[in-house]
Amino acid sequence: MSRPGGMATGDVAAGRSVRRTVAIVAHTHWDREWYQPFQTFRQWLVEVLDDVLDRLEADPSIPHFLLDGQMAVVDDYLAVRPEAEERLRRLAAAGRIDVGPWYVLPDEFLVSGETLVRNLQMGLERAAAFGGAMELGYLPDMFGHVAQMPQLLRQAGFDHAVVWRGVPAAVNRTAFWWRAPDGSGVRAEYLPVGYGNGAAVPDDAKALVERIRSHEAELGALLAPDAPLLWMNGGDHHRLQAHLGRVVAEADGLTDDHTLRITSLAKHLAAASVVGLPTWAGELRSGARANLLMGVASNRVDVKQAAARAERALERLAEPLSALFGDGAGAGAGATADALRRAWTEVVRNAAHDSVCACSADDVVAAVLVRYAEAAHRAEAVTDRALAGLAASMSSTGPVVVNPSARPRSGLVELLLPGTGEVEGGQVVAARPGSATERVVTGGLLGILLAQVANDEAAWGGAIVGVDVSDDESGLDVVVRTGLRQASGPSLASTLADLYARAGARRRESIHVRIEHEPFHRVLIRAEDVPGFGWTARSPTDPSEVMPVTVAQDESGRGCSLANGLVTVAVDATDGTFSLDGLRGLDLLVDDADAGDTYNYSPPEGDVPVDAPTAVTVDVVERGPLRAALRVVRTFEWPERLEAGRERVGQRLVEVSTRLELRAGERLVRVTTTLDNPCRDHRLRAWFPLPTPATSSRAECAFGTVERGLLAEGGITEHGLPTFPSRRFVTAGGLTVVHEGLLEYELVDDGKALALTLLRCVGVLSGTYLTYRPLPAGPPLPVAGAQMPGRHVLRYAVAVGDHDPYALVDDAFLPLLVTAGSGTGSRPATGSALSVTGAQVSAVRRVGGDLLEVRVFNPGAEEATVGLGGRTGWLVDLRDRPLEPVTGSFRLRPWGIATVHLTA
Ligand SMILES: [Zn+2]
Repeated sequence: MSRPGGMATGDVAAGRSVRRTVAIVAHTHWDREWYQPFQTFRQWLVEVLDDVLDRLEADPSIPHFLLDGQMAVVDDYLAVRPEAEERLRRLAAAGRIDVGPWYVLPDEFLVSGETLVRNLQMGLERAAAFGGAMELGYLPDMFGHVAQMPQLLRQAGFDHAVVWRGVPAAVNRTAFWWRAPDGSGVRAEYLPVGYGNGAAVPDDAKALVERIRSHEAELGALLAPDAPLLWMNGGDHHRLQAHLGRVVAEADGLTDDHTLRITSLAKHLAAASVVGLPTWAGELRSGARANLLMGVASNRVDVKQAAARAERALERLAEPLSALFGDGAGAGAGATADALRRAWTEVVRNAAHDSVCACSADDVVAAVLVRYAEAAHRAEAVTDRALAGLAASMSSTGPVVVNPSARPRSGLVELLLPGTGEVEGGQVVAARPGSATERVVTGGLLGILLAQVANDEAAWGGAIVGVDVSDDESGLDVVVRTGLRQASGPSLASTLADLYARAGARRRESIHVRIEHEPFHRVLIRAEDVPGFGWTARSPTDPSEVMPVTVAQDESGRGCSLANGLVTVAVDATDGTFSLDGLRGLDLLVDDADAGDTYNYSPPEGDVPVDAPTAVTVDVVERGPLRAALRVVRTFEWPERLEAGRERVGQRLVEVSTRLELRAGERLVRVTTTLDNPCRDHRLRAWFPLPTPATSSRAECAFGTVERGLLAEGGITEHGLPTFPSRRFVTAGGLTVVHEGLLEYELVDDGKALALTLLRCVGVLSGTYLTYRPLPAGPPLPVAGAQMPGRHVLRYAVAVGDHDPYALVDDAFLPLLVTAGSGTGSRPATGSALSVTGAQVSAVRRVGGDLLEVRVFNPGAEEATVGLGGRTGWLVDLRDRPLEPVTGSFRLRPWGIATVHLTA
């Protein structure tokens, strides 16, 4: 339609007939630790928040302040300023300060799905004490987003997410529908230039209006003509700007094109349009408009290994075993719950994006490692206590094999058995021979001698099991017996106490000591069909039906192979790789230069990788019949470092020792690679040629798997490098690799091989002018620790063919456990404490009293029936709100996540 002289038409077309709302959200982004350690940033946090409280109380022109979506900031502040709690609570309850919903702003790819859930639940619970959390998925700075995040947010009751990094070029608006694989979705508000697009507002209304106009121009077509502009007034560790309220009011009076309002994210999103938005399904890992920083998956492998171990110790062992075999609501339950809560707090703190990402100062990484270690230690103590509870409840004596996973399992366990010689159906791996020695010591030294005896025996797995004392006019005569630890009753302890008292009274007199070692040995046996979440009393003489694993050596002694009737593994002595059923060249070690930083890999121009060893030796370490292993030692000449970021100089001889292990009854080849790294500025990867070339890979991520092609989308500030993260496994072209904390893989050689990153060694937190990233991502802080000096033990395993990767990774890293039945309880010889079928189990834990929480997910594209062994309860959301009752089983949609509270 045309109307002569009608100015208004053009104005409407340009979106100028309506004043655009500029929604100003005052906030600070708080990295708890990063280029400065936690305590350094916390000192600054106290100053910033002192000031925020003062200003909000005094200045009604700033109605809202966003505390970065994470409750850790509140706790970190109040730990220093406990007297401020009431003021903070009043401001939060009045809606002046938005707190939560997270406990920390996590990285989503480098931690487990369960860690993401606990982080959200911890944040929501803590925020409830301050009047409730901000009810939206604020995800401002994560290095990309997992595919299942929309489903998690939905299950927390959220309708909205706010994201920056990772959004692909295909999203051409400042908002989009973001869908998880199960179909659940949220409206995602997209911050194309980040959470600091409105940082540092000038103290000049005219200048502010100019900045808003220039930002509109910068966003261009991304900002729909009628869309409000979200103006995030804050940045990393920023203070609240004192002049903000005044300048915004002045600027609002100056412009006819805009309405400026200081508001909250929740209010802004509640009024946001949902019409005509583009849709994106799945993970957000694009570098189109913001750096994804994909190299954080492979820096500081020690942190990623520690994360994998701590999460496994908590999720897969301590929680399920204490829930199923602990003392329920008994006397120890409080201590167990407390230990688990404290362990989770440390793991969740480490999930912060600069913490587990290890793009941080060396002191920060040291603190992260301590938190993971302490979380794992607490989990191990809880697990030990649960196993002791199971042992005490057994009606039988002797070894009891325990299965911590939901699926029935067979596998090897190691037992300590009395005696010597062969054990039918078993494999003796170490023998403590019987012997007797005579010693004469003074009374003053008897305690030291017995401590030595106990230590020596403990190294074998034994202990002092008996002491006889004769005390007459000829002197003190002592016989000490060692052997397999038994329940040492009060008699042994009191005999020892009495002996030390007598010896102490004769400090200078000679004492005759006879030490008798009873023989015992460590024996591998194979336990068959242990029920899921169950146990089986195992007699050492139970026969095993599986074919034995055998070792063959050719006449030269250099060629070695392992076979178990299922697969054959043969080492190529020329380059130290191995073949699996004829698929050759597996575990080729390729070392190349890395001039990058903790965020990004950066190959110097003309880099020539080193992949040929100068020498290879092969030894047989174990010969079966249940477990056979070879040790392959490859010697490489690796350049020592990069000079001026370009040329590899110096040379070091490096021995890389690889243990290849094959077990009876398994198709999985376990690989343990050990090296002492003396070199800098390099990347070491293990290459695995694929049975068939692949155009895509499928890797584990939170609550499922994700398929990716051979390319990654990049942008002008970051090249799209297709190095992707996998949580515990990745499958491509008929090969599955499972690993412990080796999170980065890449399909290389046009999809003909998969490269698993073992080490990435760099010397600076953030560099500049990297090959794939021209601009810095942080300060240029030297980080000697990120060069990964010293010894590393890297564990992974491979299988060829069609396998359940969840079963493979459990077989490799979640072994069956053993405890010793007491014979004094009533528990039968075999049984299961919980049956869950039809889905993967993410969590089993006790949530108050007798309520058992089970969280499952369906990792497939078909609807599943989840069986609960006839038990009943309620499906609940992530905030424990009941959804529907469950009797025995329930249907779970493809890629669905479900939490059930079992009441009976
Ligand atoms: Zn950050």
